[in-house]
Amino acid sequence: MKIALIAHDKKKDDMIKLSIKYKEVLAKHELIATGTTGTLVMGETGLKITRMKSGPLGGDQQIGSMIADGLLDLIIFLRDPLTAQPHEPDVSALLRLCDVQNIPLATNVKSAEIMLERLKAGDFKVD
Ligand code: PGA
Repeated sequence: MKIALIAHDKKKDDMIKLSIKYKEVLAKHELIATGTTGTLVMGETGLKITRMKSGPLGGDQQIGSMIADGLLDLIIFLRDPLTAQPHEPDVSALLRLCDVQNIPLATNVKSAEIMLERLKAGDFKVD
């Protein structure tokens, strides 16, 4: 399964904690991330991650393009709903494409944990 990891700045600590907690399950999948999120998670977990550009510099659009091409199976995008983002249009476009393509999308830690628990249990399947 191909999994994308993205976290806004105030959610990066949460993403690191999530990645450490689910390192074993994540290690069994192909991981893609926006630049800074990927660097931090790789540094803290040693997981192998393909990094796109940083989100504000086009990384969200690159991941959106992969979603449009049907190349991703699960998106964990820990959004910061309390801070204005300079690249809000890119964020909205990415979220919209997940709905267009019917791609599972977790935008907060609890949702991500439910999906990762299902992955861990082996009963999370995509078409
Ligand atoms: P970053 O991008 O991982 O490069 O910080 C995330 C984002 O803000 O979309």
